[in-house]
Amino acid sequence: MNISKNYINGEWIAAESDKTEVVPNPATGEVLIHVPISNRTDFEKAVTAAKNAFPAWSKTAVPRRARILFKYQQLLVEHWEELAILITKENGKSVGEAMGEVQRGIECVEFACGAPTLMMGSQLPDIATNVESGMWRYPIGVIGGITPFNFPMMVPCWMFPLAVACGNTFILKPSERTPLLANRLAELTKEAGFPDGVFNIVHGAHDVVNGILEHPDVKAVSFVGSQPVAEYIYKTAAANGKRVQALAGAKNHTIVLPDANLQNAVKNIIGAAFGSAGERCMACSVVVAVGTVADELVAALKTAADAIVIGNGLDDGVFLGPVIREAHKAKTLNYIETGIQEGATLVRDGRLDDACKGVGYFLGATIFDDVKPGMKIWTDEIFAPVLSIVRAETLTEAIAITNQSAFANGACLFTNSANAVREFRDTIDAGMLGINLGVPAPMAFFPFSGYKSSFYGDLHANGKDGVEFYTRKKMMTATYL
Ligand code: NAD
Repeated sequence: MNISKNYINGEWIAAESDKTEVVPNPATGEVLIHVPISNRTDFEKAVTAAKNAFPAWSKTAVPRRARILFKYQQLLVEHWEELAILITKENGKSVGEAMGEVQRGIECVEFACGAPTLMMGSQLPDIATNVESGMWRYPIGVIGGITPFNFPMMVPCWMFPLAVACGNTFILKPSERTPLLANRLAELTKEAGFPDGVFNIVHGAHDVVNGILEHPDVKAVSFVGSQPVAEYIYKTAAANGKRVQALAGAKNHTIVLPDANLQNAVKNIIGAAFGSAGERCMACSVVVAVGTVADELVAALKTAADAIVIGNGLDDGVFLGPVIREAHKAKTLNYIETGIQEGATLVRDGRLDDACKGVGYFLGATIFDDVKPGMKIWTDEIFAPVLSIVRAETLTEAIAITNQSAFANGACLFTNSANAVREFRDTIDAGMLGINLGVPAPMAFFPFSGYKSSFYGDLHANGKDGVEFYTRKKMMTATYL
């Protein structure tokens, strides 16, 4: 049996735990590897390595740390396609989307390369007569990162490049469903010249997560994943005195007004709802069709969804790959049944697509019309290619519907009216807004800024928030006699 190892102190080490989980290619069912479900002893080794590496790494000159990240960026660019293929094999998304994900990861490394500027403090020479004061930034120590399956490269890259550029050392607990890309990221850190112990990987599930949350030597926790886990991470890490940022689930609404360019709206909604099989925290899962646009929009979405090519993401022309696991497909099928029972109109039934009948965890694009707030298919994050359409009379009503959601990650508006854009921006409950586009995910130099049940914490991932999160400030006030 091919069992992945953990990456600790620059070496690949077999886990002591003998528990493993199988990692299949979701498009074919082929076993890619087995992932160890590491125990506390395995985790403890990583903490020791990261703690021991911290004093030298935190004192390494910031431009030297940045130079290692420049080298890392170069290696990621050289291995771009190989990384994308690996993502497709373990996650299922199309290679085109995986290439985009690699780019997003590389952009995070590029941002982290700016550490010498990003870490600068600020001073004021004369706060009183002959008294100066200044702020200096320092790393905080060992950081723990816990990541989801849906972006095996981009999400870890939201965390460790910036954390280590700021002088911290890092332990990553990748999703047990997508361990391979993380392993490749680790191999390339070695090649780039990361000193041993600066970046470590411990594969597993609850035991490793709880180790991160409870260990006194872990000073901060970055988490990205589903809402219940995010809430648990936030509460437990905070109770143990750690800094924590926990990015959670979503139910993103897209409002379409009658004055929108319909062709553009349909193209973008199809991409946002069904790309990556709907397994994106920025996926469009609800369309709110306003007034007269509804009938035409629903018909055009169905026509466009009928033309979607489903299959193995490695094959040319495929747009819609499988969902991550058989169990996730089964859960989604239950949601479709629930939607029918709740009285929504099933406009397109993705269960009937041919690809869903063979091997692999495929499910075609599914569209419900006449969905009402409060229905389970409206309330819950389904995280699959299922789109709900709600009808509203006015923009104000559409915004009120959107704001009833427990989540507040992304929201989009399709319109040509500046006044509508203003009303939307000022009153919508969502942290990442898109106008006439489908997936308004911010780039690495801006914060990824959901709120309500989509985020637990204060400082978001990426951008200046990320720098704040991974550094501590010291204020010094001095007078010279
Ligand atoms: P998940 O919550 O199941 O898993 C995320 C991580 O938490 C994994 O490493 C997993 O091993 C660990 N985990 C899972 N259950 C746990 C438990 N009970 N105790 C301790 N650790 C546990 O999420 P997922 O299915 O891998 O990813 C999809 C979710 O992530 C979606 O909800 C999606 O919206 C969210 N997500 C959010 C963002 C964002 O920026 N807000 C980005 C990407 C994904």
